[in-house]
Amino acid sequence: MESSIECISIQDGVREDEILNTHSFSQFSSSKPSHNSNLNGGVSAPPASVHELLECPVCTNSMYPPIHQCHNGHTLCSTCKVRVHNRCPTCRQELGDIRCLALEKVAESLELPCKHNSLGCPEIFPYYSKLKHEAICSFRPYNCPYAGSECSVAGDIQCLVTHLRDDHKVDMHSGCTFNHRYVKSNPRDVENATWMLTVFHCFGRYFCLHFEAFQLGTAPVYMAFLRFMGDEMEARNFSYSLEVGGNGRKLIWEGTPRSIRDGHRKVRDSHDGLIIQRNMALFFSGGAKDELKLRVMGRIWKEPQNPDGGACIPNLFS
Ligand SMILES: [Zn+2]
Ligand SMILES: [Zn+2]
Ligand SMILES: [Zn+2]
Ligand SMILES: [Zn+2]
Repeated sequence: MESSIECISIQDGVREDEILNTHSFSQFSSSKPSHNSNLNGGVSAPPASVHELLECPVCTNSMYPPIHQCHNGHTLCSTCKVRVHNRCPTCRQELGDIRCLALEKVAESLELPCKHNSLGCPEIFPYYSKLKHEAICSFRPYNCPYAGSECSVAGDIQCLVTHLRDDHKVDMHSGCTFNHRYVKSNPRDVENATWMLTVFHCFGRYFCLHFEAFQLGTAPVYMAFLRFMGDEMEARNFSYSLEVGGNGRKLIWEGTPRSIRDGHRKVRDSHDGLIIQRNMALFFSGGAKDELKLRVMGRIWKEPQNPDGGACIPNLFS
C-alpha cells in the first residue's frame, strides 16, 4: 500500500502534463542579458540572477551539465529532458539533442548550496563536489524505517516519527526500558515474517525495535535488533541490551543501535542483533509447540563517551 504522506516535496515527481502546462518558464525567458557582466570578474558570490538563469524552468532545480536547449534556445535540465519526450515544454517544438555549452560553463564555475539546505545544511560547493557531498550529507532525508512494506516516504526524523505513528500505526513508547511480547500462532508454518515495528522515545531520540523471522542457513531463527533514528555517528552514543529467556535459561544481546541509514535488511543480514533459534524461542515461550509467545526485555542507555563504539560494524557478507 502506497502511503499518501510525503514529507518532502519530491521535485522528480513532476508529471508530464504538469511539465507541459507549466508557466514558470515565462520568468526564465525574461532574464536580462546584463547578468553576464558579473561572470568574468571573479565574483565569489554570484548574484541570485545567475542562479535564476540556471534554474530549470520545469522542475526549478539548478541545472548542471548536460544542459539541453531547443532550437529556439529554451533550456532544460537533463532530468526533465528525459520526461518531456523530445518536445520543448516552453515552445513545444521538437527538442533535438542540442547542448547549451555556455550555460554549462557557467554552471561549473558556480558555488552552490547543498540541496539539503532547507533541511539545515549550511555547506556550499562547486558543482561536482556538491554532488559528492549531497550523497553523504548528514542533513539528507531519511527513508521510512518501516520494514513490512515498500514505503517511499522520506524526511527528517520528526516527520518520519509522525508518519510511523499516523500511517503505519506503530506502537510508540516513552522510556528507555521495555518489555515486549511477540506472538505468533503456528510459528512453524512461517519462514519469513516481520512484526510490527515499535518506536521508543528516550534521551530525546527515537529508536526502532525490529523483530523478524527468517531462515539462517537451514535453521529457522528469530531476530530482534534496534535501529537509531539518526545518523551513525550519533548512534554510537547509545547502547542497548535485549534479553529473552524462560525455564532457567536466558540469552542476552548487548550492542550499539544501527542507524536507520542502514536498511533493516542490511542489519539483519549482518546478524547485528539478538538471534534466537526457533526451537529455543518456543522453549522460552513456555514449551508450546504451536504458539510463539516470546517476551523480549530491553534497555537503551547513553554511553558517557563512546568515540569508537560501533565504529566497526559487523558485516558477515562483505
Ligand atoms: Zn528540470
Ligand atoms: Zn523551445
Ligand atoms: Zn549538505
Ligand atoms: Zn513509511
